[in-house]
Amino acid sequence: MYDALTARYTFACPRLEHAHVTLSSFRLLERLPGPAHPAVYGVRFDCGCGEEHRGLVPHDELDWAPLGAQAGPFVDLMTSRTLDAAEELLEVAAAHLRSGTWPWTFFCYPEGRPRPVFPSSFVAVSPGERWLGLAVRCPVCDALSVNLVSRAHVDLPFSNDDAIGVVDHVFADDAVRSVEEFRAELASSRFDERRLHLN
Ligand SMILES: [Zn+2]
Ligand SMILES: [Zn+2]
Repeated sequence: MYDALTARYTFACPRLEHAHVTLSSFRLLERLPGPAHPAVYGVRFDCGCGEEHRGLVPHDELDWAPLGAQAGPFVDLMTSRTLDAAEELLEVAAAHLRSGTWPWTFFCYPEGRPRPVFPSSFVAVSPGERWLGLAVRCPVCDALSVNLVSRAHVDLPFSNDDAIGVVDHVFADDAVRSVEEFRAELASSRFDERRLHLN
């Protein structure tokens, strides 16, 4: 369901049969009540057909598939050998982690510091002309923060922006219940620039 080589999740689309979308095409993410192993997330996403659909993503796929954990075999064109993409990608991921780089990072406003995070902590994404509004539930303090980031910052693990925008207030728990509410919050918010280096 996730293709690590194109960084896209596959969902059903009533018009195109399949929708292949990046994380930044997600609009709302919500952990569904029910089984914890694996937990399942309900997402709403903007599809290439022009409409918004709903889809389900298991926790491991949401957080770990972008690191290459489920990538399949591929043919190395230089040697014509078939290699396991998962192994290669996970080696790259491990090297990043050893050097202190996290796949995703956000700036927690109440704590006043950057925090490592996984996509399952993303709550909402709102597309803008140059930047995306990204609402994140902090895995440490549980508060909701909103950052302005690049598309690559969301879509590609280990490509964290150096500097991002941070909304300068704490959000109520229910501030981002719909795409429209989140867009309105962003439009009326002030942003401070913050650096995102963890070390
Ligand atoms: Zn569609
Ligand atoms: Zn926090």
